[in-house]
Amino acid sequence: MKLVPRYTQIAENFAIEDFPASVASPQLLLWNESLAKEFNINVAADLRASTFSGNEKQAIPAVALGYSGHQFGHFSPRLGDGRAHLLGAINDDKNQLWDIQLKGSGATPYSRGGDGRCALGPAIREYVMSEAMHALGIKTTRCLAVVGSGETVYRNPPQAGAIVTRLATSHIRVGSFQYLATQGDVEGLKNLADLAIERHYSEITGTGSQRYLAFLGAVIKNQVKLVVSWMRVGFIHGVMNTDNTLVSGETIDYGPCAMMNSFDFDTVFSSIDKQGRYAFGNQPNMANWNCARLAESLIPLIHDDDEQAVSLMTPHINSFAELFNIEFTAMWAQKLGLAKADIDDSDLIGELLKLLKDHQLDYTNTFDALTESLKYKATVPDVLAQWAIKWHHRTDENSYQTMRQANPRAIPRNHIIEKIITEYNEFGSSDVLNRFTKVINNPYLASEELLEFQVVPESDNGYRTFCG
Ligand code: AMP
Ligand code: MG
Ligand code: MG
Repeated sequence: MKLVPRYTQIAENFAIEDFPASVASPQLLLWNESLAKEFNINVAADLRASTFSGNEKQAIPAVALGYSGHQFGHFSPRLGDGRAHLLGAINDDKNQLWDIQLKGSGATPYSRGGDGRCALGPAIREYVMSEAMHALGIKTTRCLAVVGSGETVYRNPPQAGAIVTRLATSHIRVGSFQYLATQGDVEGLKNLADLAIERHYSEITGTGSQRYLAFLGAVIKNQVKLVVSWMRVGFIHGVMNTDNTLVSGETIDYGPCAMMNSFDFDTVFSSIDKQGRYAFGNQPNMANWNCARLAESLIPLIHDDDEQAVSLMTPHINSFAELFNIEFTAMWAQKLGLAKADIDDSDLIGELLKLLKDHQLDYTNTFDALTESLKYKATVPDVLAQWAIKWHHRTDENSYQTMRQANPRAIPRNHIIEKIITEYNEFGSSDVLNRFTKVINNPYLASEELLEFQVVPESDNGYRTFCG
């Protein structure tokens, strides 16, 4: 494993050296063999549990990173890795550098009274969800392993503890910039922006304010792409706080996320999201809001005069909406197999979405049926028959292929995730997980086991998710 000393060079107190705490009896529960191959991780089978629990002491300390965060709109200046240790970084088979981090690995100087631990349920959820998102073609942090700690974590009710090994192309968050900006550390801000550019946006070659404006623009573009890709598959992040927004444009933090079943822009599952701030259809607004918080943090790198800085950044912030509209329209065009979305198509799309909502149709299965209807005469729901006549006129011989690539046949449905977790927690069995893994590894294809995972629960009205 190669180390990333650069985090410790960003600013004083940005990265605090710390060792993971040992656990009583580490046991390897989930191991991602294909990911291990991609990264050429050759840790011997009998050493995996001790290595990826933190029991195997590394020669060089890990680091816990400091960051701030707007949580549901309220600013916390000092959050940070309260239960995570960044061990170092490794290259994948495309020579991309990724951080490797243990989560649930014990208290750090940022724990603020927390126990630094993670329960097994949320650990399994992060593993299954992030790997499913990757298979769906969505930028995300990855999961290498889940190791049971053999200890109890005192949640309500008490649960088995676990450590997750997470990989991310970096752990630089919007909240990381806020952390340095709040301290007035301009030098640190510049170091961090340069590191983010080096790791994610090496195409940016300019200097001075141009460099950091280009960085802001690039982050905005990637946030737009990310949110559109979430909405394509019905993903609701659930906790889009600035500390959970990576400047790389990867999805991070699978605590309270959920998948939408019946289509409704207002869908919310998170138990703490009472106002629907992070509802399915509000995600673009929130990503835009988070980008504005990044812009605020970058002010000192843009101009000595705040007002001048703001006026230089405003066009970038305003471009979010325009970029989003372009990408969002293109997404619907793909989902409907339209060669090019023209002006009439917004009516066609709008009508369909209204029908989906009014008749509480399942988002994934409906688009799957529409796709298959082009090739195999699959039946579309009766209530869409009139609409489908108009739609058919707009399709052509390429539509099936386009749609098949945009509309998954399987998604990590909420009840499947819950079943996987319950089965594991209560019976130590991974039967459902194993069957689901086969399906979700090829989520756009038919397979023998697919049917089991296309079943929609009668209602998910009472379904609630929690910050793990
Ligand atoms: P999250 O909800 O996972 O995004 O966490 C929000 C903040 O709380 C982060 O700074 C975490 O490091 C911290 N945190 C969450 N759970 C714990 C825990 N069990 N012990 C210490 N810190 C925690
Ligand atoms: Mg410690
Ligand atoms: Mg988080």
